[in-house]
This record gives sequence, structure tokens and C-alpha cells, in this order.
Amino acid sequence: RFSKMAKENRCSFCGRLASEVGGLVSGVDGAFICPQCIETLNNVLALRAADEKRRKTADMLDFELKTPSELKAALDQYVVGQEEAKKVLSVAVYNHYKRLRAEVLGADKASEDDGFGDVEIEKSNILLIGPTGSGKTYLARTLAKMLKVPFAIGDATTVTEAGYVGEDVENIVLNLLRAADYNVEKAQCGIIYVDEIDKICRRTENVSITRDVGGEGVQQALLKILEGTVCNIPPKGGRKHPDQEYIRVDTRNILFICGGAFVGLDKIISRRADEKVLGFTSASSSDERGPEKNGLSRVQPEDLVQFGFIPEFIGRLPVVSTLNPLSKSDLVHILTNTKNSLIRQYTKLLALDGAKLRFTDGAVEAIAEKALKFGTGARALRSIMESLMLDIMYKLPDDKSRKEVVIDKDMVK
Ligand code: ADP
Repeated sequence: RFSKMAKENRCSFCGRLASEVGGLVSGVDGAFICPQCIETLNNVLALRAADEKRRKTADMLDFELKTPSELKAALDQYVVGQEEAKKVLSVAVYNHYKRLRAEVLGADKASEDDGFGDVEIEKSNILLIGPTGSGKTYLARTLAKMLKVPFAIGDATTVTEAGYVGEDVENIVLNLLRAADYNVEKAQCGIIYVDEIDKICRRTENVSITRDVGGEGVQQALLKILEGTVCNIPPKGGRKHPDQEYIRVDTRNILFICGGAFVGLDKIISRRADEKVLGFTSASSSDERGPEKNGLSRVQPEDLVQFGFIPEFIGRLPVVSTLNPLSKSDLVHILTNTKNSLIRQYTKLLALDGAKLRFTDGAVEAIAEKALKFGTGARALRSIMESLMLDIMYKLPDDKSRKEVVIDKDMVK
């Protein structure tokens, strides 16, 4: 109740008279408050809420951040080969979280005097280019696991321009929110891997496009979340209703790792490189043309624009790395030597039935050879192993006397 009192009352907070502040709001037991004090208290509450958010985010980021070389060494235990990509990713991820911590924990205060106070470090999202099954998703997932930050995978081909039937780009963020158990602050420090990013270029002649899924509109929609925007997420997914309470997730600090096979990009690169060499009319400056295992590593932003991306989109993916196709020996290594190798996994599985599992060297080689033929990198290993092991896993639990299973080359073949 606003009351202009005949007998002058005072604001119980600042003590000013009702006439000075244009009336008071009365409470119980003769207490009053003036409009200015209401506003001040509102601001105090907003600041407190912001502080609370900041504290929660700081808690999220309060982990021991490994150095790039430590990150790389940890990745080495899981991911075979891809040395360059592991190095690039380790540095990029380290920088990302270092920047975030400086921002949130205020660790940059000390550096304000050294001339960098007004320098704002921009987020560097990452683009991974490499064939199917070479470890792009695996790298992103493993890094997120090592850092214990939430991780989600989105597929660029399912995204449509806002307003079209299909998935809204917010769905990708929703997946991350789910991975963070609906903890918004946690989600905002997470990593999102966007798969099949090469399928949303605007070139229609791109052979890899089987349906017209993308184009510029989708790139624009994705661009917004890569740059940083506040997404309104319906609490339980599903379609949006105008009167629904949304969960607001800011994507500004979410690290996006985008990946794709980019079929045909190598031709664009070599065409550009060749033109340059011709332009110089000198074959001696042709180090760009030198024989290389993976021509993709020479990729420049202009090649990606040629491939069909809008320049702004490429601008938001400043860190680019390429992955090599996996060789037979890589596949053997993946099967046997990695921390989470398939052979270890099946050995553990059989050990639970009390049996030992052993693969001969010939068998491992034969599995790798078989996988190589599929042309889907390490992905084929899983299905080959699964069908190889099916009969054994079917019969073993009934055969209590069986203490060892040996898989040899002939069984694989
Ligand atoms: P893509 O490059 O298509 O994203 P993935 O990362 O999904 O490929 O690879 C599929 C699976 O193959 C992974 O889950 C992982 O088990 C295995 N794999 C792929 N590449 C490697 C690698 N370089 N080292 C170890 N395992 C790998």
C-alpha cells in the first residue's frame, strides 16, 4: 500500500521522509520502505544471484588443468596415431579452459596492469578434418572425459533452419544440458562435438550430399551457437510452447569441436596449390606440391569457403587439424595396445565367466586386414570382433570346463 501519510513517516531503511521520496510502502509493525530502497535491494539481490552463478561456475572449473603435453600424453594412451591432431587439440583445449578460468576465477586481475587488461581472448572452436573412423569423435570424447566436463554429440545434418521441420539447433545444446544433469553452469563449461559438419555446405554438386540438408541457413543457425548465444531450452526437450518456462543456456563458453570427412576437399586444395605454383611460373617454389601422405593438412580457410562454407562460419573455427586414414599397423595397435582396446574389453568380459581369452598375432593381423577393407577406419573393428566372438560368448557360459579360448587366423578368415 502506498500511503501519503499526514503524519510524516520515514523509510525504515534509509530514514528519509515520505515527502522526500514520493511516498512509502508500509509493512507490518509500522515498518516502511521507500522506492529507492526497493530498487537498491533489488540490485543487491541480482548481484547476489550473479555472484552465486559465478561461484557455481568457478566450482565447475576448479579442476587441476593438465598442461598441453600432459593432455597429449593422456590422449596417447587411448588414441593411436594422429600426432598432429592430438597436439593441436591439447593446446586448444588447454587454452580454452585457461581462458575460462581466468575469466571466471578472476585470475587475470593481476595481469590488468601489464598492459593486457583490456585484451579479451576470444573462444577458439576447433575443426577436425579426417576420414570416417579415424578418431575425430573419439578424440573429443576422450578429452572431455579427461577434463570431467560434460560432453554431447550433435549431428549437423539433423539441424534445420529455424522454422523448418527437423531439429532446432538448440537440441544440440539440450543434449549437453542432459549430459550435465540439467546443471546449467556445468553445461556451460562443456564440450559439444558436431559431426558431419561437411554436409551442410551450400555446394549442391558435392557428391557426399544425399539429401539437401543444409545450406547457408543451417550454417547461420549453427554459427550463432558457435559464437555464443543464449538458447532457450524447453525443460524436457520436445517442441516449444510459447507459455513454457525455458531453461536459458549461454553457449559463449561451450567449446565446439566440429568434424567431417570432407570428401573432395583434397582436390580443391591441390587445385589451389597448383594454380599458385603456375602463377609463380617457377617449379622450384613447389614445396607446396611436395609428395605428402595426407594432402588435407595443407588446408587453408579459402579451400573451405570453396568447399561451400560461408566465411563467417570458417571464421568461428580458427583451429583446424587433419587426421590421417588409419593404417593396418594402426588398427593392430588399436586392437591390442590402447588402454580401452577391444581385445582387453573382450578379455575382461570372458574373465567374468572364468575363462582366458587369447588372440594369436596372425588373428589380430587378419582382423586388421578385414577392417581395412571396409574403409570405415577403426569403426569396422567393433562389428568384426562382435561377430567373431558371438558363438564363443553364446556357448561359453554353458561350458564350465573350458578354461581358455584361443582365436587364430583361420577363425577370423
Ligand atoms: P570418426 O573419425 O568418424 O569420428 P570415431 O572417433 O567415431 O571416428 O571412431 C570410432 C571408434 O573407433 C572409436 O570409438 C574408437 O573406439 C575407434 N578409433 C577410431 N580412431 C581411433 C584411433 N586413432 N585410436 C584408437 N581408437 C580409434
